[in-house]
Amino acid sequence: MSAVGTAAAVQGHGKIYPRTAKGIYTRWRWFFVFATQLFFYGMPWLQWGGRQAMLFDIDARRFYIFGLVLYPQDVFYLAALLILSALLLFLFTAMAGRQWCGYACPQTVYTEIFLWVEEKFEGSRAQRMRLDAAPLSWNKLWRKAGKHLVWIAIGLWTGFTFVGYFTPIRELATSVVAFSVGPWALFWVLFYGFATWGNAGFMREQVCKYMCPYARFQGAMFDRDTLIVTYVKKRGDPRGKRSKKADPHTLGLGDCIDCTLCVQVCPTGIDIRDGLQYECISCAACIDACDEVMDTMGYPRGLIRYSTEAAIAGDWSRRDILRRVLRPRVLIYSTILAVAVVVFVTSLWVRTPFKVDVMRDRATLARLVKGGEIENIYRIHIMNATEREQRFTLGVEGLPGLTLAEGTEAAVTVAPEQSTSIPVQLRLPYGTAAAGSHRFDFVVSAPGVGHVREKSVFLVPH
Ligand code: SF4
Ligand code: SF4
Repeated sequence: MSAVGTAAAVQGHGKIYPRTAKGIYTRWRWFFVFATQLFFYGMPWLQWGGRQAMLFDIDARRFYIFGLVLYPQDVFYLAALLILSALLLFLFTAMAGRQWCGYACPQTVYTEIFLWVEEKFEGSRAQRMRLDAAPLSWNKLWRKAGKHLVWIAIGLWTGFTFVGYFTPIRELATSVVAFSVGPWALFWVLFYGFATWGNAGFMREQVCKYMCPYARFQGAMFDRDTLIVTYVKKRGDPRGKRSKKADPHTLGLGDCIDCTLCVQVCPTGIDIRDGLQYECISCAACIDACDEVMDTMGYPRGLIRYSTEAAIAGDWSRRDILRRVLRPRVLIYSTILAVAVVVFVTSLWVRTPFKVDVMRDRATLARLVKGGEIENIYRIHIMNATEREQRFTLGVEGLPGLTLAEGTEAAVTVAPEQSTSIPVQLRLPYGTAAAGSHRFDFVVSAPGVGHVREKSVFLVPH
């Protein structure tokens, strides 16, 4: 039987029934399940300055991330954040392969949780296979129904939490209790809940194999020094069953006892002994399973291990592998990422939390007024992007003699997260500047917050 045939036979051609693994990597996977879910389920409930700490309020068109408030005009920061995340993923993949998939991807995390629930209701891998093959009975019915009830509850809670990132979660919770959830919120709770139930309960490895775009393009970021899960063929082959006491060398065998446990625990149903496959999500369940077998047999651990193609080919030590971490590809990705982070942080740091727009009055370009002065009229729009009331003062610079006309307000107070428009008349004594258009700056300042300069022109008629 071919190796591919072995995997198919062990896992069955249809549904995959992963066996539960035990070991250090399994514990790490559960650590990431707890860490990511603590963040996901907990974050929307966290308060910051009297409001939700992280809220992407689509209705109000405002994104709150702790002390930062972003508006549609700040789309640059959101785009930059996405680009930074993509660069980080490129760098991480070049160095560590698909460990994001194996430990922290929501698909892996929810599959892990759903499998845990499944095991509680339906038992071990063998018991689950027997239950599925058995005809319908009361025992089968209550176990399946119980599992689905818990899955649906997790799915709905996940959908509710997801929507809670886009609409204030406390208000959403109140409306759920009062059965008065709006149609869109209800739609997204159900949709996201259904997607969680379907993806983690049924689709599972199919999502990784056929739907996830990352699985398709991550190969381009791999090289011979990328960390992968690999079977050490020259140590393991030829495979064969033997008694614990037998000396494999006298039998002409390698260390693999062909127990197929590495295939049984694999969530994507592959046989890692066939070599690197795009379906492998680097979860290391097979490492844990095989290490347990090696312990039982009294062989050294690491027949399946995290390593690199180059390290396996060259019998490298751990230190040799670490030396290759800082290779040109990694250095280039790191440099690009570091530059992008510096640009992003600096632009956030110098960002003034208010916006100013200047519009010229189209009806009156320029006119001569009493006292021999030329007047131009503008409308200034000030948007206070902070969460406090601000007093803004107005000034002009760059054209000698240019002043605010008497009666024009030189200061304006704007409520938190609100904007206001004020008319502004500027005057210049006749004869101070030649006929034509003259550039100058409006300077709008808020004490302790910063100032904004907006360019404009002053027209002097002939
Ligand atoms: S778990 Fe280890 S010993 Fe068992 S089949 Fe897999 S590689 Fe061989
Ligand atoms: S081959 Fe091993 S590391 Fe890869 S998906 Fe299967 S169990 Fe996880």
